Amino acid sequence: MPEFFNVLPPEQAFATLQTYLRSMVGSDVIPLHDSLGRVSSKNIVSPENLPGFARSTMDGFSVLARDTFGASSSLPSYLNLIGAIQMGERTSLSIVSGQTAQAYTGGMLANGADAVVMLEHTQILDEETIEILRPVAPGENVVQVGEDIRKGDRVLSKGHTIRPQDIGGLSALGITSINVTSMPKVGIISTGDELIEAEKTPQLGQIRDINTHTISNLVRQSGGIPLNFPIVKDHLSSQIETATEAIAQSDILVFSAGSSVSNRDMTADVFNSLGNPGVILHGLSIKPGKPTIMAIVDGKPAIGLPGNPVSAMIVFGLIVKPTIRFMLGCIDSPPNYVTCYASKNIPSQSGREDYIPVKIVNQGDKFLADPVFGKSNLIYTLVRADGMVKIPIDKGGIYEGESVKVFPIV
Ligand code: AMP
Ligand code: MG
Repeated sequence: MPEFFNVLPPEQAFATLQTYLRSMVGSDVIPLHDSLGRVSSKNIVSPENLPGFARSTMDGFSVLARDTFGASSSLPSYLNLIGAIQMGERTSLSIVSGQTAQAYTGGMLANGADAVVMLEHTQILDEETIEILRPVAPGENVVQVGEDIRKGDRVLSKGHTIRPQDIGGLSALGITSINVTSMPKVGIISTGDELIEAEKTPQLGQIRDINTHTISNLVRQSGGIPLNFPIVKDHLSSQIETATEAIAQSDILVFSAGSSVSNRDMTADVFNSLGNPGVILHGLSIKPGKPTIMAIVDGKPAIGLPGNPVSAMIVFGLIVKPTIRFMLGCIDSPPNYVTCYASKNIPSQSGREDYIPVKIVNQGDKFLADPVFGKSNLIYTLVRADGMVKIPIDKGGIYEGESVKVFPIV
């Protein structure tokens, strides 16, 4: 019987693949507002101080802090109100000891002022006299020049994935375009004699292609550009022909199905025929997802995913997504799991990683991970699931009530 050789856990398998990968497929300059999810290709340094002027953080009165020392409701400080500072306007008002000027949240302070007393801690006696009921320290209720970020400070590092707050921060500095890494193109080929396009009606024995659609959208979610190729039959020379065309146009090639070891499985032969060194690993120690192939063809990674749609998605998350992120030059991957408690015992076999689809159930102050039953090869087990529980290689299972990490599929 044919065997899988050199079966590796997914992390080790990806580490092996990574030694062959080149980071950064190129870079582009794009408008900032289009940069969500892209990866910065240069360090960005602040061209100016933010804020550029001292700003009040409260509605109230700008003062010299020392004029308020010792103030209380029973023994207020009295200050002479000389005017108000309008929002969005440069002020020419200056105060000296004994004086105050009205300030608004986000507005300027009067020249000479070093703190703001909250409106709630004052009493307006008349148009010219304010009672201060509590003292403030110098700097209190004020954002200083450059307190948010200083001119010359690093704003974002190369390799950072752009988030909404980053776009806000860059906008605040007047930066409206950004250097980002190019998105790797991922050629996707589904193989199998039984497959037909989704818009067709299957004869008995045929099924509609799922993987082209899940994989291309996983690619998009991971930061790549999917290039979908037509379904190819289990016919070696047709597969080589389409694969040759696909790899010429792509940075990464992904094959679906035919990745096992029977004589109907051709992915390994196709990859070996495309270029050198060809297949570098066949088989992962996980379930589902064991029949996986990794190859390098003339410098480009080619991944053979199992045809089972659930396995294909899981292996995508473990191998293809990190490949895309690496090629994007991405250096940060924030933790993205939810800690849950197992709703029941989940058995597992030690010696391999098990991935179990679960639904997350909100139960008061905690979340339960409820396994989705059904055969592991059915796409609707994933449609019904919120994520996957990973049972580590050395664990024999999870007990009801045990805490588990639930990961989204990618
Ligand atoms: P294979 O990897 O070729 O042994 O296929 C494993 C299982 O996945 C078989 O039941 C196939 O029919 C199914 N399969 C293969 N490719 C696809 C696909 N693109 N969409 C949905 N199911 C598929
Ligand atoms: Mg097949």
